[in-house]
Amino acid sequence: MKYISTRDNHEPVSSAEAINFGMVPNGGLFVPESFPKVDALAAANETYHQTAFRVLRPLLDDYSDRELTECIDSAYNEHTFDIPSVVKLADISGNRHILELWHGPTAAFKDVALQIMPHFLRIAKKKLGKTNHTVILVATSGDTGKAALEGFKDCEGISIVVFFPDGGVSPIQKLQMVTTGGDNTCVIGVRGNFDDCQTGVKNLFGDSDLREQLKKRNMEFSSANSINWGRLSPQIVYYFRAYGELLSNSRIEPGSPVDFCVPTGNFGNILAGYYAKQMGVPIRRLICASNRNNILTDFFTTGKYDRNREFYRTMSPSMDILISSNLERFLFEISGKDAVTVKTMYESLNKSGSFTIGGKIKELMDELILPCWIDEPQVLETIGSVYRKSGYTIDTHTAVAVAAAERMRDDGVPIVIDSTASPYKFSRDVLKGISGEEIENEFQSIDRLSEVTNTAIHSAVSGLDKKEIRHRKVIDIEQMKQSVMDSLL
Ligand SMILES: *Cc1c(COP(=O)(O)O)cnc(C)c1O
Repeated sequence: MKYISTRDNHEPVSSAEAINFGMVPNGGLFVPESFPKVDALAAANETYHQTAFRVLRPLLDDYSDRELTECIDSAYNEHTFDIPSVVKLADISGNRHILELWHGPTAAFKDVALQIMPHFLRIAKKKLGKTNHTVILVATSGDTGKAALEGFKDCEGISIVVFFPDGGVSPIQKLQMVTTGGDNTCVIGVRGNFDDCQTGVKNLFGDSDLREQLKKRNMEFSSANSINWGRLSPQIVYYFRAYGELLSNSRIEPGSPVDFCVPTGNFGNILAGYYAKQMGVPIRRLICASNRNNILTDFFTTGKYDRNREFYRTMSPSMDILISSNLERFLFEISGKDAVTVKTMYESLNKSGSFTIGGKIKELMDELILPCWIDEPQVLETIGSVYRKSGYTIDTHTAVAVAAAERMRDDGVPIVIDSTASPYKFSRDVLKGISGEEIENEFQSIDRLSEVTNTAIHSAVSGLDKKEIRHRKVIDIEQMKQSVMDSLL
């Protein structure tokens, strides 16, 4: 399988090269030149590992069987995920099914990708004969940082430096990060907000003096964000697994269609669903669920993507995004792999902050994507009503998707709702939605949530307050470069 650029500005590369590059050097994203067909019905009788192998096999065809198996086994095992099936379905009512994607080490769905991506990268470097040391730089508003740290911790030939806004992440998220073990991890608080961290990291990537200094020591920067093919491809697997589980639970007939409803931020998760459809999962529609930052709802409704708008902080912070980077990959496919169109759109986005599509492309999008956004009060209400009706506890991101699915007319086609975080990761809001209690202290709210719902606390957050703090550095924005040099050189 060759990977081509969405802007037709790079020669085709192998999957190892695409993973090693991250994004296309001159802008644009690597996408597979075609989608191999993989039998979805066979997933009914498989383990997660078996399905992962079959789905990833044709996509990463420059990896040997042994290398691919090694990646899958190292990523998904009893030390990393708390259920052997890695993901699982739960019913909330009739033909609405919840796909729990948060059984990994940090309690967010990003683990599914970030547990395997470091192995992809480690082996990609070996295959490409790269002997340099890779330094992963991450700016995080919370969830990504910890998931990346857990994935890259103790990964050979790679270190990771995470910058987070000190005071701008929840106490749980901060503790999760600063208690991370491993000899190759570095976690630094920045006196500033998330944008300061992100801009700072971008500046580090672009700093030619720093790059030179690293090069002298045989080191190189890289990133772990969701535009890397190594992060996107593993997410296709669980769409096959969900279909397989619906089959083996006799919830559907072989070949009959299903819809998926995805709480969306950067458009990575829902794009993986679209790729799964291309590869053979009988998906009819994808419901794109947004919170109050409803730029995607507007785009799919009107055809105009306009980032000139206010940014809101919501209870589902991992979806608080105005630029959904992976949308570019979707637009490439839906326009019939038209790199010229994609290029024009993104030039317009850069220049004026907006672009518009219409005609045939818009029609194709309308057939496939159902957009919907949910306001804050309804998120809390949905958490409460799902708990009262089904005795099932959902987090604030999942609640956005459940509320969106509930707005859709029930025409008999099952809807699978991607559940992207454990309720214990956002316990204060979840508790408020369920019992109306407002507890300021996060650890107290975690205990109380467990009491009220009679569910076990996710291992990612239990005992966190007793763990040793290993990273204490807090710096000013201007010190980011110096702190990287201190920790690496
Ligand atoms: C990252 C994240 C999302 C958004 O996923 P995208 O792939 O960026 O669309 C949704 N929910 C949670 C809990 C997340 O961590």
